[in-house]
Amino acid sequence: MAAKRKKVWFDERLYDDVRQGMSVDRVLFRERTQHQDLIVFENRTYGRILALDGIVQVTERDEYVYHEMMTHVPILAHGRARRVLIVGGGDGGILREVLRHRSVERVTMVEIDRAVVDMCLKWMPSVAGRAFADRRTELIIDDGAKLVAQTKQRYDVIIVDSTDPIGPGEVLFTEKFYRDCRRCLAPGGVLVNQNGVPFLQPDEIPMTRRRRAKSFKVASFYMAAIPSYYGGLMALGWASDNATLADVPLAILRRRFAAARLKTRYYSPEIHRGCFALPAFVAELARR
Ligand code: SAM
Repeated sequence: MAAKRKKVWFDERLYDDVRQGMSVDRVLFRERTQHQDLIVFENRTYGRILALDGIVQVTERDEYVYHEMMTHVPILAHGRARRVLIVGGGDGGILREVLRHRSVERVTMVEIDRAVVDMCLKWMPSVAGRAFADRRTELIIDDGAKLVAQTKQRYDVIIVDSTDPIGPGEVLFTEKFYRDCRRCLAPGGVLVNQNGVPFLQPDEIPMTRRRRAKSFKVASFYMAAIPSYYGGLMALGWASDNATLADVPLAILRRRFAAARLKTRYYSPEIHRGCFALPAFVAELARR
């Protein structure tokens, strides 16, 4: 009888006393890029998985949750987004979802690590699809903090799809970065950012809110449940100067959603309205 193959495990070590294990059916690619340790591996439940510096970034099976919530909430709340900036997002999932809005005329994506784009296109093509070939896409390989500090462009929506505040992503959680983003936002614009899992990363809530509040009249959060970002609901940062943007009536959201003719698997106008209702412990963290 053939001996049972011993399982090999990928252990995500974002925390020092809890971790997420995913069995590795096959490693498709691994390299130490100029910026981070990059691995793409296969798991029966999640499909192909990208991890950077040992932290899960995107899985084929659940990527739609995060990518739909990080794009359709700000774009449908804004209502007239023409120019979008994506900071990070090398796997192309956010770019794919932004481009589904025919009203969007230009998407600039500033990603620090070319290898992430290349390896996701090669090993996880379902995530970006043809987004990088879209004539509206402008891909810049650079530090996002540098671009927002220098650009003369103005954006209606800025989406910060970064790694966690360690390594190259750390600069994307600073007060100066948020100030520079505020400078690049056109009037009525909105910034959203990856803000961690509050149950396991509670400090990220007060940390980013205080820093965003220095430059924006409204600095708050909305929630989404992403299975592979374990530890419960994930917080997504929200910043704008117009409080009504986070409180668009359901009828308007339904009208905009229908007009955009989006087929989604997580986002809905009802989820959009509900996701700004924070669990009590998150609301308390956001008051610190
Ligand atoms: N959805 C994931 C999450 O929520 O953790 C993030 C996915 S995406 C792969 C994160 C991207 O941020 C990576 O491609 C990484 O190279 C990029 N990144 C990190 N620091 C950056 C910086 N300073 N400027 C631009 N891109 C950066």
